[in-house]
Amino acid sequence: MGYRCIQCGFTIKTLYLQYSPGNIRLMKCENCKAVADEYIECEIMIIIIDLILHKPKAYRHLLYNVINQETLKFQGLLWKLAAIFLLFDAYRYLILESSKGNLGSSMSYSSLVSVCCKMLMDVFFGNFIFLLTFFFMVKIFLHISISVSRCSDILLGLLISCYFKIFLIAMMVWEFPSSVIFIIELFCLSSNAVALKVMTESSMNRCVWTCFSAYAIKFVFVQAPELILLGKLIQGWSQMPLTLSLKSAFI
Ligand SMILES: [Zn+2]
Repeated sequence: MGYRCIQCGFTIKTLYLQYSPGNIRLMKCENCKAVADEYIECEIMIIIIDLILHKPKAYRHLLYNVINQETLKFQGLLWKLAAIFLLFDAYRYLILESSKGNLGSSMSYSSLVSVCCKMLMDVFFGNFIFLLTFFFMVKIFLHISISVSRCSDILLGLLISCYFKIFLIAMMVWEFPSSVIFIIELFCLSSNAVALKVMTESSMNRCVWTCFSAYAIKFVFVQAPELILLGKLIQGWSQMPLTLSLKSAFI
């Protein structure tokens, strides 16, 4: 990924010229004639606020001009971010299980092993299904050809745009209702959609649908055992004699 103009996404050779230490001149974009990347001179807090506000130019600055393959160890960064993402996802699972009352100090060894197996399945299998659906939708719905390098670029953008998961750390310190996780996931979804729009230059609607499909399929696969159990309960309840079901409903 080369440097880009944050206004229009046009490729640019260099973002600024340095005459002496601290004395730089920002370059203008040949396409839109605006300053190619004004964030170079901004405080990091302004960039963070613009990222939270989902401004595409802030995402272009981060994904193209800060994280540049020529200046960073790209593969190393990708693996580190993937590991951090999986750790946050495992922690999210533990918070949800804890809120259901399935975790506690008096747990038996077998139930601890069972929780660990479910957590691994949720984290690895769930995210595998998520990525499979995501890239399938990118190829079919957004009509983007996916090579290995393109796939790595989009994956890196996807992982970086999940930065909202960092708020899970706050849940280690302060007590929040587990519904906060749902809000964090929603922010991640919208952030992923903006990053995808910036990286593929597709329409926002299509990017939102691509990300939403991946999240929805992951949710269905991960929750499948519980959904099947719920379906069986509803089926069993509907097959009960009417008088009995009415009686059980009022007891
Ligand atoms: Zn431009």
